[in-house]
Amino acid sequence: MAKSLDLDLGVLALAHLKNAAGDGRPALLGASVQDLESLAEALGEPRYRGRQLFTAIFNRRIADFAEMTDIPAGLRQTLATACELDRPHATTIVASVDGTRKYRFETPDGVAFESVYIPEVAKERHTHTLCVSSQSGCSLGCRFCFTASIKRYRNLTAAEIVGQVLAVQADVSRPEIDGKITNIVFMGMGEPLLNYDNVVRAAQLLTDPAGLDFSTRRVTISTAGIVPRIYDLGRDLTTQVAISLNASCDETRNRIMPINRKWPLSALIKALREYPLPRRRRFTIEYVMLGNVNDSLRDAEQLVRLLDGIPVKINLLPLNPHSRTEYVPPAPERVTAFQQALRGANVNAILRTPRGQDIAAACGQLGPAASQL
Ligand code: SF4
Repeated sequence: MAKSLDLDLGVLALAHLKNAAGDGRPALLGASVQDLESLAEALGEPRYRGRQLFTAIFNRRIADFAEMTDIPAGLRQTLATACELDRPHATTIVASVDGTRKYRFETPDGVAFESVYIPEVAKERHTHTLCVSSQSGCSLGCRFCFTASIKRYRNLTAAEIVGQVLAVQADVSRPEIDGKITNIVFMGMGEPLLNYDNVVRAAQLLTDPAGLDFSTRRVTISTAGIVPRIYDLGRDLTTQVAISLNASCDETRNRIMPINRKWPLSALIKALREYPLPRRRRFTIEYVMLGNVNDSLRDAEQLVRLLDGIPVKINLLPLNPHSRTEYVPPAPERVTAFQQALRGANVNAILRTPRGQDIAAACGQLGPAASQL
C-alpha cells in the first residue's frame, strides 16, 4: 500500500482543508465525502474508505482515529500522522444561572472565538440551540455590539465551525448536563456571509444526511445584509435565513450599522423579495431594540410597511448592555407598545428573553469575559 505523509493539498485540490496550525495537515472536520475519497486515493486506498471515514467522523462523531475500528490499523496510523482531526480547544467554559453555557476557543495561531449553548427553558420543547461563530472578531462595526470592538479577526475555517458543534455536543452530552444540540444558528462572532465559502461548506456538512444530519429547517444563517451574498445563498443552501435588521429607515440604520451605507434598505429588502424561500418558510428578522433610537411606534409602523408582503417572524431583542456601546436598553413599556403595534398589524413578533447575560453570552456580548462588560 503506497502511503504519503507529505500530502500536497494544492495538488490534491484539498487546499481548503489546510489547518489553522499551518503544518500542512488537512483538517478533516471540514472535509466532504468527495474530499475524503480523494484523500483515500492519495494514500493508495480504495475510494470507499473515504465514505467510511466520513461516517466515522461526522455520523458516529469519533474524535480519535484509533477508535475507527472498521478502518485498517495501518491506514488509521497513516491518518493520525498525516491529518488533523482535532476539535477546537476550549480554554474556558462558563455556565449561566439559566443553563446557558459559553465556550471560548483559542486557535494555534492565536485568535479566539466563542460559541453559546442555549438550552430551552421549557424542557418539553426540546429545542436546544448552539450559536456558532463564523469569524474571530468582526469587521462590520455595528454600534451596539461588543464583538465589533475586537480588532484582530480572521475567518474561521469550515473545520473550526463544524468543530464548535462537535466540541460542544461532546461537552453537553455528559450525564450531568444531559444536553443535545437540536438547532444551530450562525449568530455568534462575525458576519457569516463575509466568510461565505467556509460557512456554506460548514452548513452543507452539518446538514449532510450521511453525517451530522441536522435538518435544513434547524440551521439558520444570519447576516447584517451582505446583499450580493444573499443572492448566492439562495442558490447554494436551503437553510433558514435571518436578517439582523435593527432599523426601519436608512437614517437610523446608517447610524447603528455602517454596512447599510454600502447596501441600503432598498437593496436588502429587494434581495429578500427575490429570495427563493422554500415553501412554508419565513425569514427571521432580528431587531435589537435601542432606547429612544429605534423603539418608537413610528419605527414599528415603518417596519410593518418595509416588510409588507415578505414572510417573516420578528425577534425583538432589547439591547444587552455592555461597556462598549453608547446605547441603552429600551424602557419596558416601549418594548410592549412596539410589540403590540406589530402584532396589531398581524406581524408575528416575539419578545426574546435574554439568555446568559450574567456570563456575557447574550446577543451582542460575545468577545469579552463577563468582567469586561
Ligand atoms: S452584530 Fe454581528 S455583524 Fe454586527 S458587529 Fe456584531 S458580530 Fe458583527
